[in-house]
Amino acid sequence: MKYGREILKGVEGYVPGEQPKMKNIIKLNTNENPYPPSPRVLQAVQDISTEMLRKYPDPVSLRLREAIAEHYGVAGPEWVIAGNGMDDILAMAIRAFVDPGDEILSPYPTYTLYETLANLHGAKMQYVDLDGEYQLPEQFYESNARMCFIPRPNAPSGVASGQKAMERLCREFKGLVFIDEAYADFADDNCLGFPRAFENAIVGRTFSKSYALCGLRLGFAIARPEIISELMKVKDSYNVNAIAQIAGIAALDDREHFKSIVARIRKNREWLTQALRDMGFRVPDSQTNFVLAHWKGTPSAKEIFEALRARAIIVRYFSARRLENALRITIGSE
Ligand code: PMP
Repeated sequence: MKYGREILKGVEGYVPGEQPKMKNIIKLNTNENPYPPSPRVLQAVQDISTEMLRKYPDPVSLRLREAIAEHYGVAGPEWVIAGNGMDDILAMAIRAFVDPGDEILSPYPTYTLYETLANLHGAKMQYVDLDGEYQLPEQFYESNARMCFIPRPNAPSGVASGQKAMERLCREFKGLVFIDEAYADFADDNCLGFPRAFENAIVGRTFSKSYALCGLRLGFAIARPEIISELMKVKDSYNVNAIAQIAGIAALDDREHFKSIVARIRKNREWLTQALRDMGFRVPDSQTNFVLAHWKGTPSAKEIFEALRARAIIVRYFSARRLENALRITIGSE
């Protein structure tokens, strides 16, 4: 029986001490960060004691939540919940605040997981189309849905709704407004101050993208303590593992690394946007670590997607309304 690294020895491209990789693939389909996470994260993971692994982790991730509260300038850990990725928190929000049969509002297009989670819960999605500039139309404010999920900046367009529109939404929408800021660290502004200003606002964040920690599975949300305590009631008991709790604190601690990889991605985004426009794609200005490149003509976007794949360049194609003539491309390295 082979264990650990031994088992990797027949894998093509395996170098002892390195992650196994598939050769020469350019993976630009799931919005991962092309740069490595902070070396402090790797150090913190290596320093984990056997005792930390033997015992259950802190069920409420208190030290991590304290670090997040301090880092993001909120009053205390009672304003923060941590999750096994933000996806975990999206699921908690539905469990805590939506009943089967209720409606959940989201703009269209949007992050597809909301609908999956809604369906699992017996709730219904109510979509309102974004306008041609990917902004919220008037109709969006008129919904009576129980809850609203709004990715800001939007996925998959990369465009952010205006701050004024977000303020109006929080004022006029009767239910909870979950502002999904998975990509906000790549944007010019954010809604982190909203929970203090609006009692129905929840802001979700993730370590997956700007901290380059997709594999760690760590996300968090900021909201009023009354909302956080409802989420706490429905979370899995040990929803954030011991390694993620320690690594998250280490990631927050390395400001310089964070700033430098975010700045590089923003710079590469500018370059890629221009290069695609020069080739004839229509590319809205993105506030995220991906662009949505619209294409009209022959070959079709789907054929371009397939031709790229044949060259081991993997981008994202959605066969969905309004997206069938577009490719979503993650911002890679230089
Ligand atoms: N929201 C949006 C809009 C996303 O694109 C993603 C990542 N695919 C998430 C939330 C979830 O991020 P994670 O679970 O990796 O923290």
